Amino acid sequence: MGAKRYQAVKGTRDLLPPETALWAAVEAVARRVFGRYGFGEIRTPIFEDTELFARGVGESTDIVGKEMYSFTDKGGRNVTLRPESTASVCRAYVEHGMQTLPQPVRLFYIGPQFRYERPQKGRYRQFHQIGAELLGGKGAESDAEILLMLVAFLRELGFTDLKVLLNTVGDAESRAEFRRRLVEYLRPHAEALSEDSRRRLDTNPLRILDTKSPEEQKLLAGAPHLEECLTDASRSQFARVQEILDRMGVEYDVSSRLVRGLDYYTNTVFEIVSEGLGAQNAICGGGAYEGLVEELGGPATYGVGFAIGEDRLIEVLPGSFKEKQKLQVGGTVVVRVIGDSAEGLGDARGGLEVAGQELAEELRRAGVPAVSLGDATPAKTYAYAEHVGAPAIVVLGGDELKTGTLTVRTTATRKQETMPREAAFSYLKAFFASFVSSSSS
Ligand code: AMP
Repeated sequence: MGAKRYQAVKGTRDLLPPETALWAAVEAVARRVFGRYGFGEIRTPIFEDTELFARGVGESTDIVGKEMYSFTDKGGRNVTLRPESTASVCRAYVEHGMQTLPQPVRLFYIGPQFRYERPQKGRYRQFHQIGAELLGGKGAESDAEILLMLVAFLRELGFTDLKVLLNTVGDAESRAEFRRRLVEYLRPHAEALSEDSRRRLDTNPLRILDTKSPEEQKLLAGAPHLEECLTDASRSQFARVQEILDRMGVEYDVSSRLVRGLDYYTNTVFEIVSEGLGAQNAICGGGAYEGLVEELGGPATYGVGFAIGEDRLIEVLPGSFKEKQKLQVGGTVVVRVIGDSAEGLGDARGGLEVAGQELAEELRRAGVPAVSLGDATPAKTYAYAEHVGAPAIVVLGGDELKTGTLTVRTTATRKQETMPREAAFSYLKAFFASFVSSSSS
């Protein structure tokens, strides 16, 4: 029996090459697009005081109620692995006095989040979000700016079929009225509700609207609508957001049943769904939050933001983006050496391995990505080249050494040409330059 083997903890996973290159490419697009909208990157700690999330996200939410990775550290501090980043960003905004900077402040983040949920396809306990927050802005205009940027990012990735679902959950006053009417309607039917929903009747009745149970959905069909409870201010803000989006050509569907699982949202909320994902079909959620910064000890500040689930985003990435990205990373030359050190290849000790390493390093210094396989057989060389998507193989043998040449084979056609060393270098350099420029447009 060998030693015990370990596996990644349930709900977590390793991301491996070549897929990690796809993640990096998506993140590079996010940085580029968000930068174009004037957003700067913020990196907050992966864990925070538990209380920050309890207050920020809300005690009655599923996240705080049952999904947090909380523990006491050796100093007796109660800390939690971040389940989302908006609370952290707002904490940082207040902590660094960002309200004194010219407003609004535009921040984006990329990184892992942790929720103790039941793992299933598209749902992990460590997952990743790409998000942005606009703080200190102005109502509808800020909401529209955030949505414009979100749609621009997804377009840049090649998405054409995503749906933006838009709704308003109203301001605090509208919500209080709606909550009152909803509870009044549901209370007499409490018996028909699931245990979870019955609990929510007292803690967070709005969340009952999220139910997946057909019986509850039927019951809810007759429930009062939030729309009927909206204050004039909320109503006009929602109309204004739609007006701006229409003007800017951003398509959306108003989805009056859309509520979000986090407590801090006010007025505009939105979600982006992809048909390709099945049950866990939301790839992005977001909305405005007018009270959060104040709740965390700062001044009253308008905030609006979104979080894209990166794991799900990668799952449904359009083929066009993946092809483009493959071209960009499939750019390694494989060096193969044939002959023996008696022919002067490499030194007496290192032999062919070192000769291959030397050539590969020369290529890299010239800007051509390269790996050496030493004296691997042709079959092994092709297998490797295909595995890493290397478009060319460079062969160095006794003859090449004598004549100052290199043999370049194209992986796809298996055709080869022997050319002077200089010419081979120029050829490969141009080859890779054309690769990168054709795929990064
Ligand atoms: P939320 O922070 O709950 O608004 O979620 C925003 C987005 O993060 C969702 O639309 C999902 O795409 C993604 N997400 C949330 N929870 C998970 C999870 N457990 N696993 C994978 N993605 C998730």
